[in-house]
Amino acid sequence: MNQADSAQVAAALDTVDAMERTTSHADADVVVLNTCTVTHRSDADVRKAVKRIQRENPSAKVIITGCYAQRDPEGAAALPGVGAVIGNAHKSRLPVVASDLMTPTAAPEARAPVVIHTPMDGVDPELLPGVEPVTTVLDRTRPFVKIQDGCDAVCTYCIIPAVRGRARSATPQDVLHAVRTLVDQGYVEIVLAGVHLGTYGRALVPPMDLGELVKRVLDVQGLVRLRLSAIEPMAFPMELARVAAADPRLAPHFHLPLQSGSDRVLKRMVRPYRAKEFAELVAELRSHVPDACVGTDVIVGFPGEDDAAFEASAAFVEEASGLDYVHVFSYSDRDGVPSTRLDAKVDPRIIKQRSTALHEVSARLWTRYVDGQVGRVRAGVSLEREGGLPGVVEVLTDNYIPVEVTGAALAPNQDVRVTITERVGNRARGVLQSLPA
Ligand code: SF4
Repeated sequence: MNQADSAQVAAALDTVDAMERTTSHADADVVVLNTCTVTHRSDADVRKAVKRIQRENPSAKVIITGCYAQRDPEGAAALPGVGAVIGNAHKSRLPVVASDLMTPTAAPEARAPVVIHTPMDGVDPELLPGVEPVTTVLDRTRPFVKIQDGCDAVCTYCIIPAVRGRARSATPQDVLHAVRTLVDQGYVEIVLAGVHLGTYGRALVPPMDLGELVKRVLDVQGLVRLRLSAIEPMAFPMELARVAAADPRLAPHFHLPLQSGSDRVLKRMVRPYRAKEFAELVAELRSHVPDACVGTDVIVGFPGEDDAAFEASAAFVEEASGLDYVHVFSYSDRDGVPSTRLDAKVDPRIIKQRSTALHEVSARLWTRYVDGQVGRVRAGVSLEREGGLPGVVEVLTDNYIPVEVTGAALAPNQDVRVTITERVGNRARGVLQSLPA
């Protein structure tokens, strides 16, 4: 989502003639930091980034926008070198604020940071900024097209509804226009992104469904591959699995956040399903697309997750869920989320141990999945990687395996076929079967 949001910020800045956009902060007059606040670690990363920019380019004015700016505007404004803080409802004002900061003033150091912020929590979606897919691409591969924003759910650990507001969607016409434009520009893989993607289109008039939208997007002439960002399991339209089974251009890769494999913990999280139902969902998905890559997110150390609940969760993930990898998040209290007020907090040292144990589970699942793909020919897209080994190209397969291909002179953003020859750690090596036309 933040990649899509950053592209939107870049697109807005590109409308200002007098401004040249650069990707290096070292020589910039103004640095825009589009921030995340999904975990306390994201917040720490923002603070570190601001300090680094200040150290490496003390004269730069920093504009902090995005979810950290929305959650804690005063804290953001107090960081060194910050010239402005712009909340999520006001990103359209960013070009004007940036231009203003570039105008020399008599005593620039005396100027207090500009803070433009209004709460988004509980605001009628009609009054929130709409979702406008943009076609600006920040690297040379895999553009993310934001088609949905905000969330109406009430998961007790989650800050997102507070900082992004209620659910809303881009119109199918705008989505199709963005995809057509990106296809015409030659992008091989396009990713549709949203906060609660499975609820796409519910409030549109007439309503629309993600499965139907995906079918329309796949009708775009010249589209090579379409991938979907995470979809909450309670809103996963099984039509997507049927479409993926029939059309190899829809990447057989689904990320379904589970959050816990313990029903007791799921209940405290206010997640509206049980572990067994999650496993049934994955099994049904696999009945359509047997070798799809299915990943998840799990939070460890949620309040009330005792040893038995963690062991049940880890055992479920490893033995019964049908998953292929896990992104592990360590729970921590934070202002503004209901779980902070829950009892039965877990000791941080235990959270650390559980995180390590679940990372090990994930590594075993991933090893099994990638080993099962050795010898297979997969479609993929060549990526742009800074600092990669000379002569080594990385290809991301349709089923989300990063494959190193040696000895191939391949530009980024090429549609290729690669045979996976071996697994090396959590990655794979392969050989090219076909070069792009
Ligand atoms: S559904 Fe996702 S975005 Fe919405 S509250 Fe739950 S975790 Fe947060």
